[in-house]
Amino acid sequence: MAAVNLLDFDLAGLTAFCESLGEKRFRATQLFRWVHQHGVSDCAQMSDLAKSFRDRLSTTCEVRVPALLSEQASADGTIKWLFDVGGGDAIETVFIPEDDRGTLCVSSQAGCAVGCRFCSTGHQGFSRNLRTAEIVAQLWFAEHHLRRRLQLPEGVRAITNVVMMGMGEPLQNYAALLPALRVMLDDHAYGLSRRRVTVSTSGVVPMIDRLRDDCPVALAVSLHAPHDALRDDLVPLNRKYPLAELLAACERYLAAAPRDFITFEYCMLDGVNDSLAHAAQLVDLVQGRGARAEPLPCKFNLIPFNPFPASGLVCSPRERVKAFAAVLQDAGIVTTIRKTRGDDIDAACGQLAGEVQDRTRVAERRSGRAAIPIIPADVPPVRAPAQQVLERPAR
Ligand code: SF4
Repeated sequence: MAAVNLLDFDLAGLTAFCESLGEKRFRATQLFRWVHQHGVSDCAQMSDLAKSFRDRLSTTCEVRVPALLSEQASADGTIKWLFDVGGGDAIETVFIPEDDRGTLCVSSQAGCAVGCRFCSTGHQGFSRNLRTAEIVAQLWFAEHHLRRRLQLPEGVRAITNVVMMGMGEPLQNYAALLPALRVMLDDHAYGLSRRRVTVSTSGVVPMIDRLRDDCPVALAVSLHAPHDALRDDLVPLNRKYPLAELLAACERYLAAAPRDFITFEYCMLDGVNDSLAHAAQLVDLVQGRGARAEPLPCKFNLIPFNPFPASGLVCSPRERVKAFAAVLQDAGIVTTIRKTRGDDIDAACGQLAGEVQDRTRVAERRSGRAAIPIIPADVPPVRAPAQQVLERPAR
């Protein structure tokens, strides 16, 4: 029988697991801290646990992290890791250092079934959902790997922010996402505040409501178009959950959100969604001059498109991005233009591709674009070793 992966549990789950082994509840908290705060994977080294419990854990459990296939470092300090998650699938995780924070961009699925036109992951199709352990492992690995590498003093975190903006639509893997978010937020693990954990969604309306009720963290919505006709094409999920429903869900989310605004991501595509008329339509959309009654508190993040071979799309010229931002800003909407990070290692937004087995042939199903190659030509083939258990010394 496969060993239990301790990264699969939030604290409630680990408590139930420990009780099933006949241990007291507080042992789960101790174990949780060893794994997540101290990065210890060898149960024998968890010195404040009873010897009999350590022996039991050592024979039944492990901290299993997907095998690291490669690490690439950008000139700007961004680091991209490629992990093997088995079955021919590989996922990517990106660390983005800034002066006052360290942000980790985490993947939630091997591939993605949504199939946004401008997204390299979407063009690869979908293979499977990641398990909770595979989501948490990205943070576990990055935090403890970087602490060692950067020789951070005790108590200083390497990762201060997590954005669920890597490969996959996190709200289409909700069952695994929710415990993973709880691990990120737990004071006995990473202790991140709700404001510093962001879930980005293309607009899975029912799950936005679930997230609000279960674990409200910061919410980012991939908008990319000011009206349904265009969004149906760019973000196919819009055909199921059109803009009016999506914005209503955003408004409901704000009642519980840790921030008093929703962040809208808007990828700037030359000649597609970047005209001044599009900007004016966006203002109408969020400020209640269209179908909505009230302005929606929001910020816009304009993302210069990172081209990849299969997309057939081009980034808007810099001057047009600025002019587009000015229309939003003149309407009183806080608008930023995202700095492109890690584009020399294909780690920029929308460039994460990993390597997945497309089990849904999503690219072929994309109406009218069946001829687009599924796998971008610049993604190297991945030949993966088996999963590994990372053994780390106790502090
Ligand atoms: S942008 Fe997000 S939801 Fe759309 S295809 Fe890419 S990973 Fe999926």
